[in-house]
Amino acid sequence: MNLKHWQLLCMVTLGAWATVAAGQAPMAESAGIEPVKPVAIALHAGAGTINKSNLDADTEKEIRTTLEQAVRAGYAILLEGGSSLDAVVASVTLLEDSPHFNAGKGAVFNAQGQHELDASIMDGSELQAGAVASVKNIRNPILLARQVMLVSPHVMLMGEGAEAFARDNGIVFEDDDYFFTERRWQQLEKARANSDPQAHFVSETPDHWLSTVGAVALDSKGDLAAATSTGGTTNKRWGRVGDSPIIGAGTYADNRSCAVSATGHGEFFIRATVARDICARVQLQGKSLQQAADEVVMEQLVEMGGDGGIIALDREGNISLTFNTPGMYRASVDANGEVFIGIYKED
Ligand code: ASP
Repeated sequence: MNLKHWQLLCMVTLGAWATVAAGQAPMAESAGIEPVKPVAIALHAGAGTINKSNLDADTEKEIRTTLEQAVRAGYAILLEGGSSLDAVVASVTLLEDSPHFNAGKGAVFNAQGQHELDASIMDGSELQAGAVASVKNIRNPILLARQVMLVSPHVMLMGEGAEAFARDNGIVFEDDDYFFTERRWQQLEKARANSDPQAHFVSETPDHWLSTVGAVALDSKGDLAAATSTGGTTNKRWGRVGDSPIIGAGTYADNRSCAVSATGHGEFFIRATVARDICARVQLQGKSLQQAADEVVMEQLVEMGGDGGIIALDREGNISLTFNTPGMYRASVDANGEVFIGIYKED
């Protein structure tokens, strides 16, 4: 917790004690002042076979730095009293701008050597959502998904229609060159050389990881939000859409339960409606956030054969960073202001 947040908490608490001691109703209630609520944020940048042996020290350092910058960017907005929606967008755009992760600049190539990007966002206070699928040349697909939510009557736009909507709304486009990274090209070449159509999901290549990005946040009004952005899967068929832009699969937020963003083998996450299932277990079965996440990610998905993980956050500020793969790029700042950055299981 930073100084400002702590000071506010002290002021409210001391004021309440003073009025209770004087036989009056607590200050916050009598004056109609909302007590300060905890804020928290978590993000992921993909789950998969991330071992110390396949990540060199310099790359690991850069990745940890980017994760920390992204989580702090979102947290700074929350501390200033900003919304959870703005916080998740701030974190995700930073991750989309990094060449390290499979979203925006670092997106993987599809089977035609192109980048088709998916993203979605959800506002847990009103159950509003926006998503885009298979869009090309959009620098920050999460900004486009937010625009779909805010100014269109629709939840999801795809392909050329989404790109036309992007032009009408001043969304930034980039040339194909902007999205080219040598590492992703090599991954495509490897996948093309492998006759197994599932090759990009199995852990036989050292660079097997699914580095979709996402964030969940809780703001000082008690509102939850979730956002997810991806390039999908290497060598995917043209037009393939994964779980990331599907509300209820890769992304979900509902103030009555929790906010979830997922990363992993999208076909499984769609069939298991992962994000909504976790929230439903919390809301309808009274499960704790961690219990619900464990049941879905560590039991159901494992039984189905679906690799991946989730980040989740509830209104009490409980955070779950749960994955059934060897690693998941992840970061969080909890309700006490404690910063955590992790890559491997043992972090
Ligand atoms: N879930 C994404 C997809 O299937 C991939 C990932 O998480 O990296 O499109």
